Amino acid sequence: MLYSKYFIPTIKEIPSDAEVISHQLMLRAGMIRKLTSGIYTFLPAGLKAIRKVENIVREEMNRSGAIEVLMPAVQPAELWQESGRWEFYGKELLRFKDRHNHDCCIGPTHEEVITELVRKEIRSYRQLPVNFYQIQTKFRDEIRPRFGVMRCKEFIMKDAYSFDVDATGADKSYEIMYNAYARIFQRCGLTFRAVEADSGSIGGSYSHEFMVLADTGEDEIVNCLSCSYAANLEKAEVKASVLEPATRAPGKLEEVKTPKVRTIEELSSFLSIQPDQIVKTLIFSADGNVVAALIRGDHELNEVKLKNLLGADQIELADPHLVAEVTGAPMGFAGPVGLKAKMIADQAVRNMVSFVTGANKEDFHLRNVNPERDFSVHQFADLRMVMRGDRCPRCDGELNFGRGIEVGHVFKLGTKYSKAMHAVFLDEQGEEKLFFMGCYGIGIARTVAAAIEQQHDRDGIIFPISIAPFEVALLPLQMHEGDVVDAAQKIYDACLAGGVDVLMDDRDVRPGVKFKDADLLGTPLRVTVGERTLKEGMVEIKVRSEKESTNVPLSEAPALIPAKVKALYDQIK
Ligand code: ATP
Ligand code: MG
Repeated sequence: MLYSKYFIPTIKEIPSDAEVISHQLMLRAGMIRKLTSGIYTFLPAGLKAIRKVENIVREEMNRSGAIEVLMPAVQPAELWQESGRWEFYGKELLRFKDRHNHDCCIGPTHEEVITELVRKEIRSYRQLPVNFYQIQTKFRDEIRPRFGVMRCKEFIMKDAYSFDVDATGADKSYEIMYNAYARIFQRCGLTFRAVEADSGSIGGSYSHEFMVLADTGEDEIVNCLSCSYAANLEKAEVKASVLEPATRAPGKLEEVKTPKVRTIEELSSFLSIQPDQIVKTLIFSADGNVVAALIRGDHELNEVKLKNLLGADQIELADPHLVAEVTGAPMGFAGPVGLKAKMIADQAVRNMVSFVTGANKEDFHLRNVNPERDFSVHQFADLRMVMRGDRCPRCDGELNFGRGIEVGHVFKLGTKYSKAMHAVFLDEQGEEKLFFMGCYGIGIARTVAAAIEQQHDRDGIIFPISIAPFEVALLPLQMHEGDVVDAAQKIYDACLAGGVDVLMDDRDVRPGVKFKDADLLGTPLRVTVGERTLKEGMVEIKVRSEKESTNVPLSEAPALIPAKVKALYDQIK
């Protein structure tokens, strides 16, 4: 490609409305432009990077045996009503009516549509397993679109849906996708980790997120330094506690006056005790039922764990009104003794003796509270967030805390959709059976943005060669010098003949401008043809991620450049 015939509108200044580096650099390198909040146009160079990721995804999906289809963006409400999600999906689902007053939505995901297709088209176990995928535009009316194409409203996703005869088959399909994802992100040149993720009330380790490791990531993740355990923080398990024999006899339950003392910090300083001698009582409304969660004072409740334990669709911390109604006291004085609510306690509470809690009475707390003797707990469970200092739940090794960007998600669905939408096939005995499903997503543009978050410097992007808009930036520095132009043209032709994706900067601009733009766009290999080096029969070659450049004889350049490109690919395989 010739720069003068192409369109890469680079920007010098850092755009003021871009918070993260990938967003800034994609704007500055002329890859994207914002149309309106959360909605972007891909300019040619941005689109090239997108297509390269798509090609890798497509190759690996095909290699794994998945079959490509293309489903519509607009979907009828009836399917979503059947699955039950018309009601539950919330405001991210963009709904509208067509001219005949039919309710419709723009697909944020395609479980309903694929289930509708498969229930009509696939009748027999002989046609299974099958995995359909597409690379298609999704719309989610995100509450806070941000970070450019990382979290936007309209975005390209690769989504796949597997259908199996039973759970064992579905496990196998899941594993095939997990391995395909690992190859995809490997080939994209990313440093990533597959972490266990929350799978809602379906339960179990049925979901993995593929996280690109980056300090700016929205997700917190933990991984064990000794074994392969890695999890999203909201899913990370706390090592099961063993019931220890009590270290001291429980003291006598007593009330203490604690005027206006509401928080754990205030209480621990008022009573001169450590937060781990206090139990917090958090009142929740779970699908309309009142539940109290008991947590040690120095621990943080994990709402996802509580929600999953209760099997609730929705849980919400009680407002002051509900707290007063349930406890008989204002916020800050709730406690388990005498409380008329289902009580779930974190496992750490089971090993506490004579602790402090609220008294369900304004300006009072209780001392020497003990489970069993003073109140009864419905269930002890792992309810809290993992924190620094915790050990690995699998092997007791040291846990490392970090951040990641979720680029992919693999998920076992079981029969959730096939049951709701009555999607069945006939088994060997001719009996109707529900399909076992799995779904698997990859954010295409988010993957490009994540690559930029992971590799950049003050001059711009440092793209892995497999997803860079161009593999080689060829810079003839003096467009008025016949020798320079001729030498560059020879190299350009050789690159094209050798299948190298090259951008020749044939603009009549200062050398500094060409260098800056090449660095900004992150092209992995730069070849410079300049008057001075050319006089010695040499051209300069520089790898974007390395400091030093080397001069090579012009005569060798046509063979050397494709070899160097191949070497850069080999580095990430
Ligand atoms: P998140 O937790 O980041 O909102 P999600 O769990 O909603 O993601 P999935 O429904 O699993 O995401 O979608 C599959 C993939 O699509 C994600 O792994 C991510 O790469 C991408 N994706 C999801 N939402 C967006 C978005 N708003 N903008 C760009 N990519 C997205
Ligand atoms: Mg989301």
